[in-house]
Amino acid sequence: MSDETTIMIGLETHVQLNSNTKIFCGCPNPVVYQTKNKELKPNTLVCPTCLGLPGSKPRTNKKVVELATKASLAVNCKIADRTFFSRKTYFYPDMSKNFQTTQYEIPLAEKGIVELNIDGKKKTIRIRRIHMEEDPAKLIHEKDFTLVDYNRSGIPLIEIVTEPDLKTPKEARLYLQKLAMILEYLKVYDSTTEAALKTDANISINGGERVEIKNITGTKEIERALSYEFIRQKNAVKRGVKITQETRQWVPTTGITKALRKKETEADYGYIFEPDLTVIEVEKKTKEKIKKELPELPDEKEKRFIKQYKLTQKMAESLVAEKDIADLFEIAAKKAATANAASWCGIVLKKTLNYNNLTFAQSELKKDWIIELIISYEKKEYSDVVAEKILRKMVDDKKDSNEIAKKYKFQKLGDLKDISAIVKKVISSNKKATDDYKKGEEKSLNFLVGQVMRETKGAVDANTARKKILEILR
Ligand code: ZN
Ligand code: MN
Repeated sequence: MSDETTIMIGLETHVQLNSNTKIFCGCPNPVVYQTKNKELKPNTLVCPTCLGLPGSKPRTNKKVVELATKASLAVNCKIADRTFFSRKTYFYPDMSKNFQTTQYEIPLAEKGIVELNIDGKKKTIRIRRIHMEEDPAKLIHEKDFTLVDYNRSGIPLIEIVTEPDLKTPKEARLYLQKLAMILEYLKVYDSTTEAALKTDANISINGGERVEIKNITGTKEIERALSYEFIRQKNAVKRGVKITQETRQWVPTTGITKALRKKETEADYGYIFEPDLTVIEVEKKTKEKIKKELPELPDEKEKRFIKQYKLTQKMAESLVAEKDIADLFEIAAKKAATANAASWCGIVLKKTLNYNNLTFAQSELKKDWIIELIISYEKKEYSDVVAEKILRKMVDDKKDSNEIAKKYKFQKLGDLKDISAIVKKVISSNKKATDDYKKGEEKSLNFLVGQVMRETKGAVDANTARKKILEILR
């Protein structure tokens, strides 16, 4: 096919690690600090080192090296025996010392892989390298001036760089979601904060020059940003415009990328060895210990769920996508039938959370509440319709099912003293439908079932209603 366009995408993802203190000083890490202290004023978690004052002496945070090693091992990287930091020189107000302390020549880790499942097919994405570096300060652009907040300066980052193995914007999204999932399982970052994960994407079409799109936040925007850029490049080529190497910015509000600057090369940064920090040696013993302590990761969990609970691949994949939900399912499966536990955790709960754009952790739901609801449903205390309505209200109000049922007057099946009376009433007030059904019109029965459900605000499920109607009409 002559007009088929080939795409090459490589991603560089920055992850804010959740060590208690910053990477090169003892200041509290805002990532962790902020979860306990709601109000964080600008430029309050700072010291001479993370402000970049002359003469200040950085020291490497051992915990950061451990977290970075943990993440690297989880994506099957090889960890360097000896590694060190370098200075990446640039001039910008977010970095007052005019260089970012990062790793260049020998990164902490190299040559890893992440496995994707793309519409049922396995695909391996190669990780080129993972290095540690400091987050720069945050710039807040106002109308006529810019503010600088140095709280962010020195937040530990790992940068995870892939080979250009991704072939579509969708694959890029699936990769990022998988990466975020693995990091969530490891608990090395705050998965509830979108800004904890930022990606620069390199994209080229038909073997042309690559364009870098900067600072795509979270996991949801990547597909949109790359789809836009792909079409932009394709149209440019069609018009005979040559794509040149440049850096562009993703603007989520308008859904477009816009030119920032002609791409600088690595040589422009003039990397030099950082003389204020010592060489890091990750001992074999330490690597083995961290490797042994890795939790069960999503791929392994998925395989185990399929085997242990006899789930379909699709259901297992849905459950493991969020560690909290996978854990919830395993507790629920001990107290209720596996099929009910799976469908409630893997389908109904996920659907409700997705609708509200929340993860389980963000929803503030308690695991016990969900389990209680599943058990009530299993005991047929609630119909499926009512149970789902209760769950939706639980997400809205952050209360357990009993409180919700009381507040919104949701009826339990057992509370309905006489379903027969309701069914009789529905039959007598819908004479035509009843007669039509008797004449053999199946549709009319469904209508009557609907009326009974409506009459009971869904407390009677369709099956029970149908049975009761047939019983009375017989
Ligand atoms: Zn500091
Ligand atoms: Mn970087």
